[in-house]
Amino acid sequence: MSTLPCYLDYAATTPVDDRVIQAMVTCLGREGTFGNPASNSHAYGNLARQAVELARRQVAELVGASADSLIWTSGATESNNLAIKGIAQSAQGARRHLITSRIEHKAVIDTVRQLEQAGFPVTWLDPDSDGLIQPEAVRQALRDDTLLVSLMLVNNELGTLTDIAAIGKMVREHGALLHVDAAQGAGKVAIDLNALPVDLMSFSAHKIYGPKGIGALYVGERARPWLAAQIHGGGHEQGFRSGTLATHQIVGMGAAYALAAAEIEEEVQRISLLSDQLRDGLLQLPGVLLNGDPQQRVPHTLNICVDKPGFNAMSLSSELAVSSTSACNSASSGASHVLLAMGLTPALAGSSLRLSLGRYTQATDIETAIAVIAARLHSPSTTFW
Ligand SMILES: *Cc1c(COP(=O)(O)O)cnc(C)c1O
Repeated sequence: MSTLPCYLDYAATTPVDDRVIQAMVTCLGREGTFGNPASNSHAYGNLARQAVELARRQVAELVGASADSLIWTSGATESNNLAIKGIAQSAQGARRHLITSRIEHKAVIDTVRQLEQAGFPVTWLDPDSDGLIQPEAVRQALRDDTLLVSLMLVNNELGTLTDIAAIGKMVREHGALLHVDAAQGAGKVAIDLNALPVDLMSFSAHKIYGPKGIGALYVGERARPWLAAQIHGGGHEQGFRSGTLATHQIVGMGAAYALAAAEIEEEVQRISLLSDQLRDGLLQLPGVLLNGDPQQRVPHTLNICVDKPGFNAMSLSSELAVSSTSACNSASSGASHVLLAMGLTPALAGSSLRLSLGRYTQATDIETAIAVIAARLHSPSTTFW
């Protein structure tokens, strides 16, 4: 009995789509596009550069940006670091105030905390009880000296959506810049950077069927003069991010984004139906509640709270691959910072779990998940860890 558990953790990462793998392997071998994209004196380099630029256009197309506004990075973590530190570093004069929230990904929270320790004033926004950062909360936090606001498009733990259009408008009126971590948004919701008042946006490949270790940062016109490189050496990527471009990774990200663009509507529709079934099945069980706003969300990610002492995601791990940020030993110190910020007690945060659906999720996975959780709730004895 060595069968793997049912995978419902697509928000953590996704497998690489077979069609993406096919595109990637064409960049590796001696028959392939293995040249250095920066070698401009021969065909090997030129072919690799063409592959990289095609991928850039594919990513740009999904998010409504111009290709030359995208900088390749090693992933959304690096994109967040580059955006936030890169703007902070060129802060001049009085404008140094930063705004972010307590429900951001650690790649934003830890970066902003670092700057706070270095002397930047920071406002940490709390979500409402549904896990939303309301535009009104941003309005109240904006100051004359606000330099940068950093908020995520889709929350990775809850699946909730931030009203970036409304927030961006207010941020612009204050003359500040807006950075958006869209690692969980791309391929799940429509993004049109030509229309959105957003100055910097972070993307990753491995959340939407591309490879790990590759991402991009969108740098809009207003941010461009103020963004300081964080990795130096060679002046690649218009000087914003040096290092030999990883052609196979970049081609993989481009292929993944092109597939997402072609299939997003159909895929979101299919996942919505499965997600509704999962939500309805789980909410019928005793003591199960949905965390996060029931409407303002993507269907891909559900977060539930199970009000039964001793219940936690770890106890399901042989049958279901789902996610919980609570520590296995039930210490409340390991509970999700997002759920705590929403006002859940440490006990309820610790007995919450995230189920996330994706391209390969089938109806049988949904049935399994409901059955496994139902069995735990109906069993008289609870597993304590
Ligand atoms: C996964 C994720 C990241 C980190 O992306 P990497 O490409 O793994 O570095 C950042 N932000 C959010 C919201 C994520 O979900």
